[in-house]
Amino acid sequence: MTRLETYHTNTIALAKKTFHSTINSFELSHDSFHAIYADSLSYILAQSNGASKQKRELLREKLNTLLIDFYNATSLNSLAGLIFVDRENNVLLRMHKQQQYDDKIDEIRPSFKTLSEDFLYKKGLALGKYLDAYRYQYPLFYDGVYVGAYEYSVSFEYILREMKKIYANQYMLLLREGMQGYENVTLDAQVFYYNKRSSFDSFDKKRFEYIVEEKLLDGLLRKDDVMIIDYRFKDECYSLVVCPQKDINSKDIGIMLVDILQSPRDQYRKDFIIEVLLAIFLGLLVFIFAYKEKQHNQYVRELLNVQNQMLIVTNGTQLIDANDTFFKFFEYKNLKEFISEHDCVCDFFIEDNECLGKFVDGLLWTEYIQKHPDKKHCVKILDKSLDRKKVFELEWVLFEKTFNLFISFRDITEELYEKQELENRANYDSLTGIYNRERFNHFLSKHIDQAMQESTHFSLIMFDIDHFKKINDTLGHDVGDSVLKELASLISSQIREGDIFARWGGEEFMIIAPLALSHAHSFAEKLRRVIEEHRFRGVKELRCSFGVVSFRKTDTQQTLTKRVDEMLYKAKHQGRNCVISA
Ligand code: GH3
Ligand code: MG
Ligand code: MG
Repeated sequence: MTRLETYHTNTIALAKKTFHSTINSFELSHDSFHAIYADSLSYILAQSNGASKQKRELLREKLNTLLIDFYNATSLNSLAGLIFVDRENNVLLRMHKQQQYDDKIDEIRPSFKTLSEDFLYKKGLALGKYLDAYRYQYPLFYDGVYVGAYEYSVSFEYILREMKKIYANQYMLLLREGMQGYENVTLDAQVFYYNKRSSFDSFDKKRFEYIVEEKLLDGLLRKDDVMIIDYRFKDECYSLVVCPQKDINSKDIGIMLVDILQSPRDQYRKDFIIEVLLAIFLGLLVFIFAYKEKQHNQYVRELLNVQNQMLIVTNGTQLIDANDTFFKFFEYKNLKEFISEHDCVCDFFIEDNECLGKFVDGLLWTEYIQKHPDKKHCVKILDKSLDRKKVFELEWVLFEKTFNLFISFRDITEELYEKQELENRANYDSLTGIYNRERFNHFLSKHIDQAMQESTHFSLIMFDIDHFKKINDTLGHDVGDSVLKELASLISSQIREGDIFARWGGEEFMIIAPLALSHAHSFAEKLRRVIEEHRFRGVKELRCSFGVVSFRKTDTQQTLTKRVDEMLYKAKHQGRNCVISA
């Protein structure tokens, strides 16, 4: 290789490296964003699918509240846009354009269409309506189901400016398609467009005009490869590197120009200068990585502090750093104060069936979560300010270089409570608190399966309050309700473990008991008496009629409940307040 060729190779490598390390530093920022928010985003998008207009409005607000601090902090410098779409690609929210939503994103941005088909994370340059930007598109899943996606965009203008900070060259993006506010120029007999407003912030206008007028790029733009050309301008020597650009779908969409001043001027042919240049080149690489790291740390610090969930960095045993939310929660001023009293946040963990303690299965909690990366891990901690135990779900990332763990604590106390509420509503009767009809049917079908397989027996008891309508009519509905509650609690105190007691509807109840018919009859008789002898609040007396049947191998759920209903009907006909079985 000639020295000139070596110089060219190195210059091209430098241009590429500058670009890639800048992009990588944004990628790290995006990764932090993803690690912190992906769970909440999936949860919100999952709910937005098929939701009513009103519900979507609420979710949009929820999403906005979740992200607004982060967005404001980052949009000042790097972030250009954040878009959230549901699984049909309908926009739920644009952080950067809040008034515009519910349109279909894939109509203007085809890359979203492929995302909702192949579910693959994509990154790359993509043209928008107003802006060329580097975009990270991420599919989101909830309980393993695709629920939508988001796009995190960093404007290319900002990327070029950052590159200029790392290595003071000239940078410019020339696109094959124009957008609003873009100017066109003909180079190598092809039309290119550039951002009129920002391009000359990162590229010298005079030099660009010179490149165009002198047709320096003729013959260079037809190849799908990085090209370099040296030229002179006002007594200085420059190298112009042309990097073809592909978009997120690998479509050729233009070129990036990197213009490098040869320093000291026009001397690269001399041996010693080559050495100087190489030294500069190596020094710059070190600088780029140091810068990237520094910028990243600073960025992460800011990111950590705008979070309203607790975030920590730990080496596994000891706390190394944490965000403001963490110290506020534990009522310590800073890290120093915290570690003067505690090594580990695990000192505060309240262990139970679902939540981790300091040690799990003989492993330290930090080792345990790394050993079980696919499991969801929770910890319970007392919130002193509210005197209430809170449950947090842990998310973690391992920093490969240092083996430090970055752990986030997502407060799921409310979520768990809501989930519990939903389960309660699905399984229990809201008035009496005993099982509802749906849950009863579930148990009945299980009992039938078991009886078929293992030849066990069981009986079904159905009872109904006598003349209950009269109580409602004469004493009012409230008294009726209170009687139902009191009756349910009275019977609950009489049944044994293994019995299933449920409200069948209105003032009718069912019991499944693992008893043969005669025993079930006696048990029903006992209950009838207990009710008869009990003093119910607000009513003079209360009586119930009972039907009892036992399971036969030919029975289905329907025949069994029909038979027990017939027995109850008989009891009513025979004068009520009695037990009839068959
Ligand atoms: P019978 O002895 O034949 O069973 O007579 P009854 O009056 O108990 O039976 P009927 O089916 O005529 O009336 C049942 C009443 O139960 C009518 C309905 O208003 C009342 N009821 C059903 N569910 C509730 C409830 O949740 N709360 C109250 N207060 N009343 C209820
Ligand atoms: Mg009744
Ligand atoms: Mg009835």
